[in-house]
Amino acid sequence: MSENTNTTCPACGANHDEDAVKAALSTCPSCGHHYRMEPAERIAYLADAGTFAEFGEDVQSQNPIAFQTYEEKLSAAEAKTNMKDAVITGVCAIEGKPVVLALMSFGFMGGSMGSVVGEKICRAMQRSLDERMPLVIYATSGGARMQEGIFSLMQMAKTSAMAAELDEARIPYFVVLCDPTMGGVTASFAMLGDIIIAEPGALVGFAGERVIEGTIREKLPEGFRRAEMVRDKGFADLVVARQEQKKTLSYLIDLHAADLRGGKQWKK
Ligand SMILES: [Zn+2]
Repeated sequence: MSENTNTTCPACGANHDEDAVKAALSTCPSCGHHYRMEPAERIAYLADAGTFAEFGEDVQSQNPIAFQTYEEKLSAAEAKTNMKDAVITGVCAIEGKPVVLALMSFGFMGGSMGSVVGEKICRAMQRSLDERMPLVIYATSGGARMQEGIFSLMQMAKTSAMAAELDEARIPYFVVLCDPTMGGVTASFAMLGDIIIAEPGALVGFAGERVIEGTIREKLPEGFRRAEMVRDKGFADLVVARQEQKKTLSYLIDLHAADLRGGKQWKK
């Protein structure tokens, strides 16, 4: 038995015990502030019980530019998150409909995209293509994996090229932007979904705030690049609270069912 501990909401200052926050899918019961969430917890609320089957779990980084201390960093991140890199890929059912699901982890080296993240995202896209299943990607990232140099940047082109193939094959591709989604992930597959959803309050952008302010020599407006402004400016289609995401994705998959003919569940 564990003792209840209190969490103070950084948005409204309300105190709640951790169980109440957990029960609200890691959102504040008072104001709805969305805490960051790791892939395992998301699978629990998104996938129909017991349907998630991981693939690509054997892909691991080879330290391509022999960056000192990188291997130690990877091992530490693995021990902390119980993941081998910053994305989990698998197939599951959402309200009975089969989908390919990829979820990034901000806890694993800031969700940075290196060769493993790029490769696993591409394999997830390939699986969607091969089996004509919709693709759902939960994106969160601080940007490129600096320890992989140019191999990290190359993942932007690689994942974008695969996203174009999905588009050509008319496979529905949905992205959910989580707090934060920045840098090379924003500048590639996270902005290429057919429908782009953002979690309330999520920071979505490319460069850091200080970099922009230093470049344009102006103070940035309140709420700049938060999910709601990102939607209002046309970079996202919807802001959807965690409690509504499964229902919304299920609805969107139904809407695009005609594109999936020949796929698993619609095969004659
Ligand atoms: Zn709150």
